[in-house]
Amino acid sequence: MRLRQLEMALERLEGFPHPSPALEQYRTPAVLAARLLHHAWSRGDIAGKAILDLGCGTGILTCGAMLAGASRALGVDVDTAALAVAEENARHLEVAVTFLQADIADHGKIAGDGPYDTAVMNPPFGAQKPHADRPFIDAALAHAPVVYGIFNVGSILFLESYVSGRAEITDVVKARLPLRRTFRFHRDEVREIPVEIARMVRC
Ligand code: SAH
Repeated sequence: MRLRQLEMALERLEGFPHPSPALEQYRTPAVLAARLLHHAWSRGDIAGKAILDLGCGTGILTCGAMLAGASRALGVDVDTAALAVAEENARHLEVAVTFLQADIADHGKIAGDGPYDTAVMNPPFGAQKPHADRPFIDAALAHAPVVYGIFNVGSILFLESYVSGRAEITDVVKARLPLRRTFRFHRDEVREIPVEIARMVRC
């Protein structure tokens, strides 16, 4: 799978119709989504695997996982408007994925479509609601033995202690998140935030 090809396919996808600040709805830019998926693919965690995308939003990671050769992919989000766009995006890319409207803490509902080999997520960073990423980490580790997440730079130490005894962080990939002005309180048109993609493996 070629990184650039994946990036180009994902660039065509639609984003959030009405992004909610409370839900920290930022679409992962294609370049970063492709980076995560390509790294996971190169580690053997995507091709032929069942993928769970937590807080899938408009489905860029869910759809991208299928383009990278996943056997199936489920995207979970609370927001029905985002999921409607995700369905459109999947149709546009001609990938067969499933979307589930649920809170990521609803373990029963999510387990119903399992089991999953790999979880991927770009969780809320907790800018609006402190520790908003924690239930995402908990859910991901509850459902999949291998987890990829995008985190604020400098979060890895916290992450290491948070998952201690449950998982090990095996890879950290440094990347940049080009953030377009999404909400009124954003001052710049585009701001680059350094982020880290972490791979965790359940103990
Ligand atoms: N993964 C997407 C969206 C990232 S934004 C992408 O990469 O583009 C974070 C997403 O998490 C939003 O779509 C938001 O609706 C969703 N979300 C936030 N809290 C949630 C919760 N408790 N349960 C399910 N989804 C949630």
